[in-house]
Amino acid sequence: MAARPPRALRHVPRRRAAPEPRGALRLRLLGDVHWLELRGPTACEVLTDAERRAVLARLGPDPLRRRPDVGAFVARVLRSRAPIGTMLMDQAVVAGVGNVYRAEVLVRQRLDPFRAGRDHGTATLERLWDDLVVLLRAGVRAGRIVTTLPDDRERPSGRPRRVDSHYVYGRAGLPCRVCGTAVLDALVAARRLFWCPVCQA
Ligand SMILES: [Zn+2]
Repeated sequence: MAARPPRALRHVPRRRAAPEPRGALRLRLLGDVHWLELRGPTACEVLTDAERRAVLARLGPDPLRRRPDVGAFVARVLRSRAPIGTMLMDQAVVAGVGNVYRAEVLVRQRLDPFRAGRDHGTATLERLWDDLVVLLRAGVRAGRIVTTLPDDRERPSGRPRRVDSHYVYGRAGLPCRVCGTAVLDALVAARRLFWCPVCQA
């Protein structure tokens, strides 16, 4: 199994039977109390101990760790000509950011996904990192990915609805929640990236 699944890892009390499999479900573990699903991972393999250690050794800093090495992330990005939208999908640069978080953190920080890593300032990259920490922690707490602030939702109060959960992810052709421009999408690092061409210019 991959060291960290890039997408939804569900972990909820088993008050009801596990649902019918949906999406790209690759692994399901069932216990007496909990069930856990791995959906849409880039890799889902059984590894030996040595292979597991090798995978972990390749990973970049992890925003969910207590004292992650932010400096390693910043230094790595500043050395690269690759677009920031590509680098965020590279687990050697930062561990644990999947396709939804990539699109959402870039729009929240108003960053152009196609700007080269080395063309960013240190302070910008540190803010990007801090926002990843906020988003990933919130995702672990909620068991789902919600990146919008209440005022940016069509229905600001109550539990965020699925259609209100993201700024740009899955919203190609729909108006940007901030400026109203149609959200664009393109394949970047083999996954569909969504962005606002005005907010992220
Ligand atoms: Zn916009």
